[in-house]
Amino acid sequence: MVNICTSDDLQFDQTHLWHPYTSLTNPLPCYPVNSASGATLTLDDGRQLVDGMSSWWAAIHGYNHPQLNQALQQQAAQLSHVMFGGITHKPAVELARRLVAMTPAPLDAVFLADSGSVSVEVAIKMALQYQVSRQRSDKNMLLTVRGGYHGDTFAAMSVCDPVNGMHGLFQGVLPKHLFADAPTLTPHDRWDERDIDSLRTLLENNHNSLAAIILEPVVQGAGGMRFYHPTYLKRVRELCDQHDVLLICDEIATGFGRTGKLFACEHADVVPDIMCVGKALTGGYMTLAATIAQRHVAEQIGQGPGGGSLMHGPTFMGNPLACAVACASLDIIAEGHWQQQVAAISQQLERELARCNGLTAVNQVRVFGAIGVVELAEPLEMASTQAWLVEQGVWIRPFGRLLYIMPPYIIEPDQLRRLTDAMLALCQRLS
Ligand code: PLP
Repeated sequence: MVNICTSDDLQFDQTHLWHPYTSLTNPLPCYPVNSASGATLTLDDGRQLVDGMSSWWAAIHGYNHPQLNQALQQQAAQLSHVMFGGITHKPAVELARRLVAMTPAPLDAVFLADSGSVSVEVAIKMALQYQVSRQRSDKNMLLTVRGGYHGDTFAAMSVCDPVNGMHGLFQGVLPKHLFADAPTLTPHDRWDERDIDSLRTLLENNHNSLAAIILEPVVQGAGGMRFYHPTYLKRVRELCDQHDVLLICDEIATGFGRTGKLFACEHADVVPDIMCVGKALTGGYMTLAATIAQRHVAEQIGQGPGGGSLMHGPTFMGNPLACAVACASLDIIAEGHWQQQVAAISQQLERELARCNGLTAVNQVRVFGAIGVVELAEPLEMASTQAWLVEQGVWIRPFGRLLYIMPPYIIEPDQLRRLTDAMLALCQRLS
């Protein structure tokens, strides 16, 4: 094996390299990964772990995928990067073509962003510029729901859950927006019309100052792995139309099949004015996201100040390597196997996670598409739990009271069984 971290490397990592949401003075242990293939991560010491996280829900086709590798290698040999201002290239055009074809009509104006968080920033800019261009600069606030997560940049943080979210520290300097109660965690066969009351009231009272509503469709991810009723989203769309407010759906976690539909908003037959996608867009290979708007949004922005330019343009916009690998990833999705794969994962998760029901440490088990969640009664201690899970040969990264998996779609049934066995064993240990 090449590229193995020495103990000196690991020491340096702990003292000089911040990892997501970690402290440099009180670091948590990190596991050096040497290679990955399919649904398996191989650590530097040779141990193999079944991956339940898909690299934070992105590596849907598994690691070291021949089609994705080939797309990346071919593109690297031809054009790895060029500025996107005044220049275009085939991988970006092809990607836009695929996104327009794949996302629900009439979404058809594509902005290529560098990450999920940035695509949310761009969506918010689009909504604000849309309102400015129709002389409604008074419509400059956003409405969202509690329990949401939209990323770590400033505008994105301002629409994350302000109480239970990860950004409480910054509340004093974040723009102030409106928060409706979180949609109730409901089984999908039971809809209670009262669930929309809080959002409806806020919208009715404030629509004159609202540019857009932003929310994650049907699944709230990093804010709590909560699944809500699609009718909620349907009502939000109706209310947005009634009150002249744009709808932004953040499909960064849900897009490209994770919930059993290509996009989660399809569960409610809803088309947002603006949609954000990321994570699985490149099959988890590279950082790339997209903000896709309906034509009427693009046309309105086009009539605004500054010659109608959308005011965003990062250095690495439309990176050809990322676009090429995204095209290959979308081609794999277009083959359609994901549907059977996600359905099979869902059924297996339903069956096998049900074994956790009734244990004293377990509050609730919930499954939706290829997402399996065991909500515990008490928060888990991260370092020791992670170490124990690694000993079981699985990579599952719990947070708070949530033990959950979102595996690659290509995971084999026996690999998935190892994940659910480890989850069960952990719940039994805690009970
Ligand atoms: N929106 C949602 C729904 C997410 O789940 C995430 C990341 O978890 C983001 C936005 C931010 O994406 P990124 O981490 O790529 O910036």
